[in-house]
Amino acid sequence: MLANSLVELDRAHLVHPVASWRGHEAAGVRLLTSGKGARITDAQGHELIDGFAGLWCVNAGYGQESVVAAATKQMQDLAYATGYFGLGAEPAVRLAARLADAAPGDLNHVYFGLGGSDAVDTTVRFVRYYWHARGKPAKDQFISVAQGYHGSSTVGAGLTALPAFHAGFGVPYDWQHKIPSHDTYRNPAGSDAAIIEASRGHLLAKVAELGGPERVAAFYIEPIQGSGGVLVPPKGWMKAMRDLCAELDILFIADEVITGFGRTGPLFACAEEGIVPDMMTTAKGLTSGYVPMGAVFLSDRVYSTIADGAGAAAVGHGQTYSAHPVSAAVGLAVLDLYEGGLLENGQRMGARLMAGLRGLSDHPLVGDVRGRGMLAAIELVTDKAAKTPLPAAAQPATRIFDRAWQAGLVVRAFGWGVIGYAPPLCCTEEEIDQIVARTRVVLDQTLDDPDVRAALR
Ligand code: PLP
Repeated sequence: MLANSLVELDRAHLVHPVASWRGHEAAGVRLLTSGKGARITDAQGHELIDGFAGLWCVNAGYGQESVVAAATKQMQDLAYATGYFGLGAEPAVRLAARLADAAPGDLNHVYFGLGGSDAVDTTVRFVRYYWHARGKPAKDQFISVAQGYHGSSTVGAGLTALPAFHAGFGVPYDWQHKIPSHDTYRNPAGSDAAIIEASRGHLLAKVAELGGPERVAAFYIEPIQGSGGVLVPPKGWMKAMRDLCAELDILFIADEVITGFGRTGPLFACAEEGIVPDMMTTAKGLTSGYVPMGAVFLSDRVYSTIADGAGAAAVGHGQTYSAHPVSAAVGLAVLDLYEGGLLENGQRMGARLMAGLRGLSDHPLVGDVRGRGMLAAIELVTDKAAKTPLPAAAQPATRIFDRAWQAGLVVRAFGWGVIGYAPPLCCTEEEIDQIVARTRVVLDQTLDDPDVRAALR
């Protein structure tokens, strides 16, 4: 009864992110009521393993008492402190220091915001300010990677390269450009080395087309492209692109909003290739989704250039909730969990997840299995040799999501037949095995669909 009236209220009043508004009205909301560890329960009492950690964010899992206690204490002690007027509060200072210590190389300066989208937005502002400070305002062109996702702020959505975020919104802007994705499954270049060489070539060609390095401000990448379908670049790709940007004097921005905080194994994916970006964006696992927060890391050089460029003047960038003390207290508690064994557990469970999903490769619908750590995907096809995607009539986004739900599993079901996984790092072996077993049930059910059968070769 209560749930039914909430569904009606939701339908009437709550606008959902990245949804067909009319489609959502028709379908109605699925209400979640509780979570513990890697499991969530809906309003009907149906328990599911959250194989996607909310929105690849609840890395520490649900119901962690130490996080709840840290937030409660901070709310009681001091619920809010502005960072304006030279003020501050202990949790944000401590969190910035600990993050700087843990971050790659000289990423020693941290600006806290509210989430990933505004973190990306912040980098765009800092990039521009940096080049103005260096006396090169003509360096104002931005390049990112096809199939990339960098949030849905007005500016970030233009760096994003997914059509739904552009159509009808008037972006990308004419200073926002893309090069093709490394997408190893469908890349015509072939071998890893050839893909890396091709990507270097694409970036060089794009820079030349824009008038040379003196016009290009920054290049944005994700260590693994998440919303594009969990596309893992060849080993060495990120380093090659970072080195090329350094050669060309183009700022290299690593967007670790998904990959940060243990998702791929270490605290930051950049560390896996010994990369030190000029700036790095994080959010999600920073507070494990308990409260909103994002963080932009700046290298010593970027920070000093902006600081010296501004001199006594204010760098005019800020938000009411920058460095929010409750979010920072949560960030510290979550970091304690990561460093207290959760990262190691995530690494072990990530290896088990990848092995389990690879075991599904023999299924007639599985064309590709990819991922690293607790970030993975399988791509479904009807013809493995031709890599033919599922027919649109099979409505992969809804059918696969619904079936997984029925089987007691939350996954990300991408519209083109990719199933994405990003379970909490606290998963047990049994939960990982269940994620794989329940996926096989979904695959078998999908194989029985007449439209899928008809398309199968
Ligand atoms: N950047 C990347 C790589 C992301 O995956 C996301 C969100 O999924 C964002 C930015 C935007 O973050 P948010 O949704 O917290 O605004």
